[in-house]
Amino acid sequence: MRKWFFMLAVIVILVLVGFRSVQHQIGGSGTKHVKTETEQEAAKQGGASAKPEDESPSKEESLYLDVSSNQVHLGNLLLVNKDHPVSGDAVKKDVVNLFDHKDLMEGYSLLDAHIMLSEDLARHFMTMVDAARKDGVDHFLISSGYRDFDKQEELYKEKGSEYALPAGASEHNLGLSMDIGSSLKEMDKAPEGKWLKENAWKYGFILRYPEDKISITGIQYEPWHFRYVGLPHSAVMYEKNMALEEYLDYLKQQGKITETVEGKTYEIAYYPSADMEKIDNPASANYEISGDNIDGVIVTTEKEQAAE
Ligand SMILES: [Zn+2]
Repeated sequence: MRKWFFMLAVIVILVLVGFRSVQHQIGGSGTKHVKTETEQEAAKQGGASAKPEDESPSKEESLYLDVSSNQVHLGNLLLVNKDHPVSGDAVKKDVVNLFDHKDLMEGYSLLDAHIMLSEDLARHFMTMVDAARKDGVDHFLISSGYRDFDKQEELYKEKGSEYALPAGASEHNLGLSMDIGSSLKEMDKAPEGKWLKENAWKYGFILRYPEDKISITGIQYEPWHFRYVGLPHSAVMYEKNMALEEYLDYLKQQGKITETVEGKTYEIAYYPSADMEKIDNPASANYEISGDNIDGVIVTTEKEQAAE
């Protein structure tokens, strides 16, 4: 009888020990384990306790920028010429007839009532013209702005390949270029032309076809043709005396550069189109993305200013 009781006691002990060990295994696997705040924080920061199943899908996605497949052909830095024509989507959506928007034409005149331009571009132009006026230069005239493909084709047929580009091959088809004249004299002799040559970069514009870049652009010297690319790009091009073609090549070679303009520091990074899915999400909310219209995209990020 005592022997039987002893056996029963041993069985009870074995069962209890076995049960505890099963409990321990469940706890150890972490499946039902509720994390403490500290552990959750460590998991968020990618600490050792973070397991793949703990990562939310949204966190995974936000590591990279969501870039559309046709981004190569969209943006302010597109190279447009016979080899790299404007894609329909790239045309600026805010193109308006300037004559119908008197609020957009302060400080300059128009050659005719049909001139169209991106509204955003017109505002940058007005800011620039206002600065020139303060320097005593105030006889600006816009002779051409945005041209649609039909209008470009018409011009090409009328003027021939010596003086005009076929439809889609002109920057005017994009909405980011304008021909600026002076009501005083020819642009390369007028104070307006001289002022723009020295100062347009401060407002995001570049003299697109300079006299010393004919072999690179393939276009004759056009002292009137200005293109908007935006800051900080216009500043780098001015500083390094680069045409758009040279600048895009330079970015491709360098991969990443930094530029400081008026106290703001920018990081400019080039990515080939094959790497577009792996573009790091910029740390700063202030960034811009543009294609080069060839085979890559450029991400420009304004860096957060360090506290002083
Ligand atoms: Zn032009």
